[in-house]
Amino acid sequence: MDEWNAIVDGYIAESTDKRERFDIELASKIGANGGALYKKCDYCHKVQGRDYHGNLKCCSGCKLIVYCSSVCQAKDWPRHKAECKTESHKEQELRTQQVVLRCINQRPTKEELQNFDLASRISHARRS
Ligand SMILES: [Zn+2]
Ligand SMILES: [Zn+2]
Repeated sequence: MDEWNAIVDGYIAESTDKRERFDIELASKIGANGGALYKKCDYCHKVQGRDYHGNLKCCSGCKLIVYCSSVCQAKDWPRHKAECKTESHKEQELRTQQVVLRCINQRPTKEELQNFDLASRISHARRS
């Protein structure tokens, strides 16, 4: 995934995309376990590296869901309790990863396709 993230850096350096650098990284970069590099709090949706800069707290049950604070974790527990036990969820993924999965099952939304366009432009730039 380092190779992929390097391609994202190259894409940002081209300056053809007018979005903020962090927004592109947030939408595109992949972390060590194959999920999103920058995760967000599962309760308040604050984004790591942008809205808060502390360490993420993993749910001690499933170690997949992350929170910005123990307050958020406690508030989300009534909702997360059931899925935590079944481990029916995965590590947070990029929108583009979700779109790929959804394309297989159903039509993606317009917004999702716009996000997906970034991935296709990057792979196109790599070929040329
Ligand atoms: Zn939070
Ligand atoms: Zn959990």
